[in-house]
Amino acid sequence: MTHTYIIRKTLGIKDKNITFEKKLTEEKIKGQNHLVYFGKLTYKPKGCVKCGVVNHSTEDIVKNGTKTSTIKLTNINFKPVLLKLKKQRFLCRHCGETFIAETNLVNRNCYISNIIKSTISMELAETQAMSLIGKHLNVSSHTVLRQLKTIDGYSKTDYSNLPEHLSLDEFKSVKNVSGAMSLLFIDARTHKPVDIVENRQQGYLTDYFMRYSLKARFQVKTVTIDMYSPYLQVIKDCFPQAEIIIDRFHIVQLLNRALNQIRIEEMKKNRYIRPRDYRKLKQQWKLVLKNEPDLNYEDFFTHRLYEGMVSEYIMVEYLLSISPRLRKSYEIVNQLKWALKNRRFDRFQAILNEAKGNTYPQKIRTALTTLEKYIEAIERAFIYNLSNGPIEGMNNKIKNIKRSGYGYRNFRNLKQRILISFNLLNPLKPAKPLYFEEMKAS
Ligand SMILES: [Zn+2]
Repeated sequence: MTHTYIIRKTLGIKDKNITFEKKLTEEKIKGQNHLVYFGKLTYKPKGCVKCGVVNHSTEDIVKNGTKTSTIKLTNINFKPVLLKLKKQRFLCRHCGETFIAETNLVNRNCYISNIIKSTISMELAETQAMSLIGKHLNVSSHTVLRQLKTIDGYSKTDYSNLPEHLSLDEFKSVKNVSGAMSLLFIDARTHKPVDIVENRQQGYLTDYFMRYSLKARFQVKTVTIDMYSPYLQVIKDCFPQAEIIIDRFHIVQLLNRALNQIRIEEMKKNRYIRPRDYRKLKQQWKLVLKNEPDLNYEDFFTHRLYEGMVSEYIMVEYLLSISPRLRKSYEIVNQLKWALKNRRFDRFQAILNEAKGNTYPQKIRTALTTLEKYIEAIERAFIYNLSNGPIEGMNNKIKNIKRSGYGYRNFRNLKQRILISFNLLNPLKPAKPLYFEEMKAS
């Protein structure tokens, strides 16, 4: 094992045309100690880079001195490492021009090695401030930012292509984006992010999607969204072939929210007349929202709010016995949630129809009317195996990225960072079955 081999391995250098001297010094630059290695880059060139003549022998191309450049590598024991590399100069006997040996370690006229650059890219994928990355790698945050901008797709979006199944969701964006909400959209099957749109307002969104080619827009077969209605028109305008799917978690959320509001109303009514019931209704909100079939009715235990032994089921029964209004709301919400969970659209629709001839608290009625309004798009949530779950997980991650750095007054930087992060850290998963029936079968 030669010393060159050992040093090359240690520094992570792949180029075998680089050899090292048996020499290592320290140099103080801007108050910081650097480890300095010395190396030489040489090889037999295939031809002349200036005139293109093929190099057969020293009749064609000869070595002609060297040019030393200093290259910044990564750190060893927190000390930045420099390589003083003597690059071979060649002389072409045909055209009389000279040229310098090249290496994939560093780009021409660059000081920072590609090793550092790819390390920066990897670090950018993690949730941390750009200034911190710079500090770790002993480069300026400007270098980090410049690297961010070189990563594929920083400024260009491919407007000629779109996935067949899209999932859309919004998130709170940087401060100076009007509306302050941006839209993230991903491939609903592979969960690969497609793009982030700065402004999710209707006019802006339409303009944005219209930039995609007609062919790309016609490719889109489904779009999964929440019930934020401005999107509906945008989707109809931009994706004429697409079926809209209301995300099933948002349907559950809508129902749970309505049920919760009724619980609060009933809780407030009892505040002064039955303070013990008030406390139960106040503290046990989670239990009220839990899907009825998931309630535990087997395990009994003591509970500070109750006398004697109780189970989850018994406690919920007690809470519902406080208010017939609450019980009525609880029942219809749970019937609908059950139908959704078990993909029984016939039941879901029958429940909604029956409800028309019944009285319900106003907040429940509003929820039912909303469901009626979106019923076509809701039906597809029973058929397709697509949801906005993955995209919402991403939105949580975006919040963390934003929290990690103040360098994101610039929307494009934020966007790039988000896309890098998702693409590097989440290797593409195979697409799940498109339809619920297929998923059950597999
Ligand atoms: Zn030449």
